[in-house]
Amino acid sequence: MNFYKVTLSAAIATLSISSCLAQYSSTPPEVSPMPMKPEMTEIWEPEVTVVTPGKKLGDAPSDAIILFDGSSLDQWVSQNDPTKPAPWTIVNNDHFEVKPGSGGIQTKMKFGDIQLHIEFSAPDKVEGVSQGRGNSGVFLQNRYELQILDSYQNRTYRNGQAGSIYKDVAPLVNAMRSPLEWNTYDIIYTAPRYKASGAVDYPARITVLHNGVLIQNNTTIAGLTNYIGLHMYPDAHGDDVIALQDHGNKTQFRNIWLRKL
Ligand code: MG
Repeated sequence: MNFYKVTLSAAIATLSISSCLAQYSSTPPEVSPMPMKPEMTEIWEPEVTVVTPGKKLGDAPSDAIILFDGSSLDQWVSQNDPTKPAPWTIVNNDHFEVKPGSGGIQTKMKFGDIQLHIEFSAPDKVEGVSQGRGNSGVFLQNRYELQILDSYQNRTYRNGQAGSIYKDVAPLVNAMRSPLEWNTYDIIYTAPRYKASGAVDYPARITVLHNGVLIQNNTTIAGLTNYIGLHMYPDAHGDDVIALQDHGNKTQFRNIWLRKL
């Protein structure tokens, strides 16, 4: 018995040492008797799909779904009554702004994993403080809020400022521009995955660039971005709408497009 124990220990020790040596050795392990050629690691088919990028940074590429280009809110409906048109106001065929008290708006289409580009500006007239100033938000899959707030010289709780996953994860930095300037969010969102039982398999993840500055780096979203209480994933869900929040402030939006991933 002892003999076998000792022999086994010795064998394991030898294996460990040799695997360490293999890991740190500059000599590649001999895996194949066949010599490798350059073309053996080239993949040609199928050819990668060609996409025509926008003329300038922020413009929609050829495979994007346009959600707002200045002309109409046809891709959006009222959140209070999705059978009705979006009640917000288009200004100068350029942007639209929240109509306070009319309720949020949501896309007609439903989405899962996306790349989303959205431009926004805090209300021109600076009013209120903290969460009361220029508050809105992008709700991914109608559930997970990427906060929009006038965070230019306006303190609030760090996980509630512009670029936060609301009441969850603060942005890495505050890259907010002043209220008379436009901001961009470039969002890469991965929807949560669920097991057959309905339990979460993988939580949602999000990467966000705010005016080209990385503020969320493959962040795990803890669940519904509730105002009160801890965040969780109460129910399994599939594709769903993107919603923009009416928080009583005239936040402006323009140039919204996305790509399904
Ligand atoms: Mg908000």
